[in-house]
Amino acid sequence: MAHTLPALPYAFSALEPHIDAMTMEIHSQRHHKAYVDNLNKALEAHPDFASKSIEELLRGIKSVPEGVRQAVINNGGGHHNHALFWTIMGPGAGGEPTGAVAEAVKGAFGDFAALKAKVKENALGQFGSGWSWIVWDGTKLQAVKKPNQDSPLMDGLVPILGVDVWEHAYYLKYQNKRADYVDAWWNTVNWKAVEERLANAKAGK
Ligand code: MN
Repeated sequence: MAHTLPALPYAFSALEPHIDAMTMEIHSQRHHKAYVDNLNKALEAHPDFASKSIEELLRGIKSVPEGVRQAVINNGGGHHNHALFWTIMGPGAGGEPTGAVAEAVKGAFGDFAALKAKVKENALGQFGSGWSWIVWDGTKLQAVKKPNQDSPLMDGLVPILGVDVWEHAYYLKYQNKRADYVDAWWNTVNWKAVEERLANAKAGK
């Protein structure tokens, strides 16, 4: 089963003014598409891995044949990270988490402002390309940064929320101002989707 590029669950312009339509279109239709295409290409010679889900591939990265492992880390990670990214954003979103997410944030960070500060610190501290993540470690939330498209799934962690800090995610509108992009990005967070991800992570799904 080939991996496929998911359609965005909203229009390219839906996250304006925080993320511009052209960035969204290029990001999904070219960058994400290239990760999907290159992942499929890498797996062509390994039909026994073709039926595995993207989560299975990344969680079991050590069992992926060495000759294509880095390609799966880069392109499989890129595919999973972006598929997640599109769903945890949305129009008319933002604000503060409530319910189970708010409780988990309180337990791990104290409050939402502290979580945001940690995500920003990791976003700005990631030299070059990468992601600033909030993950479920099995018992609590954690803030981690990862380079390139390295998925937290490879570390046994479940990504709940992440901000893409590759320049392709913000350069057209924000140029070198990564901090301004990260500040604005919170206005796009779909907390309902984040809550679903947390519930699934806690349930081991
Ligand atoms: Mn990206």
